[in-house]
Amino acid sequence: MVSRKSNIKFFKKFEALTLEELIKLRSAHEKLLQNENDFPQTIKSIEKINFHKEKEYNEQRELSNKWHIENLSPLINEKYKLNSALKQFRLGLISINNIFGKSIFYENNYYKQDAEKIIKNLKSIELLLNSKYEQNPYKHIPIPNYIPYPIGINKIKTFRFKGVSCKVNFEELDLLLWSKLIISKKEELKHKEKKLLTLKAKVASNNIETRKIASTYKRKYPLYVQLEILDRCPYCSSKLEDYKPVLEHIFPVSMGGKSTESNLVWICNTCNMKKSSLTLSQFTKKYKISRKRIENKLDLLNKIY
Ligand SMILES: [Zn+2]
Repeated sequence: MVSRKSNIKFFKKFEALTLEELIKLRSAHEKLLQNENDFPQTIKSIEKINFHKEKEYNEQRELSNKWHIENLSPLINEKYKLNSALKQFRLGLISINNIFGKSIFYENNYYKQDAEKIIKNLKSIELLLNSKYEQNPYKHIPIPNYIPYPIGINKIKTFRFKGVSCKVNFEELDLLLWSKLIISKKEELKHKEKKLLTLKAKVASNNIETRKIASTYKRKYPLYVQLEILDRCPYCSSKLEDYKPVLEHIFPVSMGGKSTESNLVWICNTCNMKKSSLTLSQFTKKYKISRKRIENKLDLLNKIY
């Protein structure tokens, strides 16, 4: 049966949600239930039929049990007695487990005849019981085919509460479950947020780290080394020394570019401001510069781009 009652008592049990939140939840819950009221008549009649079917099924089962007690009990009692009687031969028997098997082993032939007499009786009782079982008029009670609830009732619905989206099955609609769902969803969101923050912090510290390494490269790879090969800005060809040269990451730090010699190049201050955190191809496209010309110069300087 579908329970459609909400219980205000549950409110006290949840510390993760405030009372105010839970009252809102309850009213949202009731609103949803009101929508379900489009079906009340259908639900009621189905419940009635299913209840009747179940009642009939239980009655049949009860009759079957009653028939068993009346018709089989004497035989079952007899079987039990014989089994107990067999126990006294246990010491003399190696195996008595398989009464209906072909071979029964005896340690001592002295008991053989008495034991076999009991086993014979047991066999005939077993056969009798089997044939009696077959006579049971309530042998096959079909499991009732209950009428399913109309489509829409069992449908999983998405419910939004305080910006948290939860999927709820109508049959499971109770505040206890909903509160749990919302609490776990909130935890999940919190966890995700925390993870994102850690990731951001990591990226930030990586950037700082990369720039730190870059400053050591300024010392390791001083300007004059590049000037000996090429005295022009590799991007705009202006005379480097005239435009406050800056050490640039060809592939930007913000995208994971490393402070390696092959990724660092001295360029003019103007180009540096224009390129900022663009990649080489973004930069050349944006300012309509010949990429081929830049590449030739970077090749000359042994850079990787
Ligand atoms: Zn330049």
